Amino acid sequence: MTHPFLDLAPLTAAHFAAIERRVAGLLATGQDVVIMQGEALLPLEGCIRGGARPGSTALNVVTGPYGQTFGNWLRDCGAEVVDLAVPFHSAVTADQVAQALAEHPEIDFVSLVHAEAATGNTNPVAEIGEVVRAHGALFMLDAVASVGAEPLLPDVWGVDLCVIGAQKAMGGPAGVSAVSVSERAWERMAGNPQAPRHSYLSLLDWKARWIDGGRKALPHAPAQLEMLALEACVERIEAEGLDTLTARHAAAAAATRAGAVALGAGLEPYVHDARDAAPVATTLRVPAGTDASALVAKALAGDPSLPLIAGGGALSTEMIRVNHYGVDATRAAVHASLAALGAALAEAGREADFEGARNAVSETWPND
Ligand SMILES: *Cc1c(COP(=O)(O)O)cnc(C)c1O
Repeated sequence: MTHPFLDLAPLTAAHFAAIERRVAGLLATGQDVVIMQGEALLPLEGCIRGGARPGSTALNVVTGPYGQTFGNWLRDCGAEVVDLAVPFHSAVTADQVAQALAEHPEIDFVSLVHAEAATGNTNPVAEIGEVVRAHGALFMLDAVASVGAEPLLPDVWGVDLCVIGAQKAMGGPAGVSAVSVSERAWERMAGNPQAPRHSYLSLLDWKARWIDGGRKALPHAPAQLEMLALEACVERIEAEGLDTLTARHAAAAAATRAGAVALGAGLEPYVHDARDAAPVATTLRVPAGTDASALVAKALAGDPSLPLIAGGGALSTEMIRVNHYGVDATRAAVHASLAALGAALAEAGREADFEGARNAVSETWPND
């Protein structure tokens, strides 16, 4: 008997190219799209190592933990790095980016994270893109946590390298990822003697061996199961409608924020201004004297399927993330998450307004 995962016919080049086109459609991009055969950190590192070199100066916007990683890669490539860091409970503004560019006219590369799932903030990429375009720097965007959760228009916004993964709002696999590459970005990499070549990190290899050859032959055996899962996930998004999907995430974020405030019990939105809050996930600050990891553990003991996790690293004591993305961008998941957090806080001696939270969620995200 054939096994549903194991005994598949090889993925053809034509099939691979068709999946690539559908991913390009999701990004509304006319640029080349490369589907990298690994998690999104692969194209992110590939973009930075392809674009940065000794002699270049990069503006690295740090609004969460990924920005710190990018800065390390940029320095490792020998680039001068100007870090523009803002508190993780806020977003960077286009004015701040413009000021940094004005102070350092030599900047030729800008890296930015669109939405930060880890800290729950999102940045105004359309406005920032205008500023970066006017300056002329190459613009790399990490859109892993925004794709599917909020509007993402790399071509309109002047993004030269837009990296996405399917594992968050798209509700897809984590093992493959994609990047759109502008003509300018190809030129930058081609002119960079240090850009990875003959390497798993290399975007130029994909251009030479796949795109320039007319997408007739794959450079190596693709991650077949992940590619099929990516196709299924894009199909499901097309069926729901991308706008419906992003609206569902925006509603989940607004409802979670309103519900948490109404629940009280000392919980507070971690991102101060609702305008800066990411649709992909809502982060909450726990009351002083309680431990976020312990509260999450208690909440999950009742229902391990809830999309709750404590913040990473230093935030593990003070922050709770409600990961209402993908299949969890539902009213049911929001209601259940808040109820479980309320119960855990009540056990810790806090007063939780369960009914108020339920009402706030229902009012913010009414049934249609
Ligand atoms: C999730 C995410 C990634 C991918 O990293 P994983 O933690 O391995 O899923 C990259 N960038 C951002 C902004 C993300 O939110």
